[in-house]
Amino acid sequence: MHCDGGSEIDDSFDTVLVQGPQGDVVVDAETARLCWLAEMLGRPIRAIDCTRCGGAQLDRQTAVHHSSLARTCSTCGHVVKTSDSAVANPLADAWERIGLPRPQPARVSIATLSIAARDYSVIALWPTSTEILSNEGELELGGVHVHAWDLEGEMIVDATLGTLTVDGIAIGTDAVRHEAARVALMH
Ligand SMILES: [Zn+2]
Repeated sequence: MHCDGGSEIDDSFDTVLVQGPQGDVVVDAETARLCWLAEMLGRPIRAIDCTRCGGAQLDRQTAVHHSSLARTCSTCGHVVKTSDSAVANPLADAWERIGLPRPQPARVSIATLSIAARDYSVIALWPTSTEILSNEGELELGGVHVHAWDLEGEMIVDATLGTLTVDGIAIGTDAVRHEAARVALMH
């Protein structure tokens, strides 16, 4: 979570209550993580309610990984069928329910950087992801986010790139997304 304004917040929380102009939503870490995982796997997410009890459906890890047209409602046990293989996650339309603008997919970075691993003590990279909720219309920059520390331990690279080349091996956004999803699915 990032907040700028009177007070700035840049931190991680287990649960965040977001008060929008038309309502509130509670975002918990697991539901947000399942959103992120679907995005890393390139799967669309959609808010799906049970056709019997109206309960919001949440596809867990296995269902996010393997497409399914049917899910069992965790509230009433009814089998909820859908015609497409979107991942069910109540955060998909949270922006609409609380009256915020639709989060925009990031503008993909076209920047590139080529480095030699021997010049750095640590190189860390991860894929950027779309915000679940945002009240600013500005487009984020997406791609491969890189932090790298020099041999004295000072962070000298903090960038969002289209491609990072390390020792001649090019690492693009898709590769980093696949690796992030693979690691997440192992846990
Ligand atoms: Zn139900």
